[in-house]
Amino acid sequence: MKTALVLAHYYTIPEVQAMADHVGDSLELAMIAQREKADRIVFAGVKFMAETAKLLNPEAEVILPDERSTCSLVTQTDTDSLKRWRDRYADHAHVTYINSSIETKAMADWVVTSRNVDNIVAHLYESGHQVIFSPDRNMGAYLNYQYGYRMPLWSAVCEVHDLFNAERVQQILSAVKAGESRPFLIAHPESPLPVLKQADFIGSTKQMLQWISDIDAGRRPIYVATEEGLLYNMRHLRADLDIRQAPIYTGCQCNACPYMKRNTVQRVSDAIKGEGFLIDYLDMKHIEQARRPIERMLTFDVKQASHHAA
Ligand code: SF4
Repeated sequence: MKTALVLAHYYTIPEVQAMADHVGDSLELAMIAQREKADRIVFAGVKFMAETAKLLNPEAEVILPDERSTCSLVTQTDTDSLKRWRDRYADHAHVTYINSSIETKAMADWVVTSRNVDNIVAHLYESGHQVIFSPDRNMGAYLNYQYGYRMPLWSAVCEVHDLFNAERVQQILSAVKAGESRPFLIAHPESPLPVLKQADFIGSTKQMLQWISDIDAGRRPIYVATEEGLLYNMRHLRADLDIRQAPIYTGCQCNACPYMKRNTVQRVSDAIKGEGFLIDYLDMKHIEQARRPIERMLTFDVKQASHHAA
């Protein structure tokens, strides 16, 4: 029987995270998939993540527990339209978020994650490039706002983060009684810009966990604008803090990614035994083309890390 390495994203349910050899964000899991010598990788995440694992470790059998685990950033991006858009800016560097299909990555010069996007885009501008950004409109709008770029943006959104309600956030943050401190707001950059503009901290999944780990918040509530699965990890890390989900448009105190939640305990158990959706359909041309911008990103990260360690 093949030994399976189980990788789970932070947005999967706690019971699935408990089954995993590694729990992480997309960058961490991509690096583990590249590094580990496993016969079989069970990727409890979504399809683009399992495809990235296969690109970086083509020898391994990569299984996604449920074929329907996709992502709105992928399904809202029509490849032919993206190609026409990309051709309009042929002299620009094309940066794509890792939450994209293999075809989108194959068209890109750089792949980025929410953890390294600020540094990579800054590096490109410092090197004299003009940049276009796909597919996440919210993340691109945040970068343009924060750094004064004028990047043309592709217009897809994460259907989970796009639900955060800026007006309700503002009401909560401003409804502070005399003698009380304003609550904190921390947010993932896939959230809409009007929400991000009010945040005390904006960061990737991993960076938000680090912020929670380090913060001396006293009794101040901390509102979090990201997928609800991460709040489980945050509360586990700091049971002393008052961590709350930021409000969304539907009014409920929840915001779950339906695609991540398809990774049930039963499906992950079946995938460990070899059942599930096999990532064996990737076209060699796309594999080669998509691997280049991903490896460029991973090399950039290693250089940055050694620069900071020096
Ligand atoms: S949370 Fe959003 S970006 Fe992440 S997989 Fe779900 S739909 Fe895609």
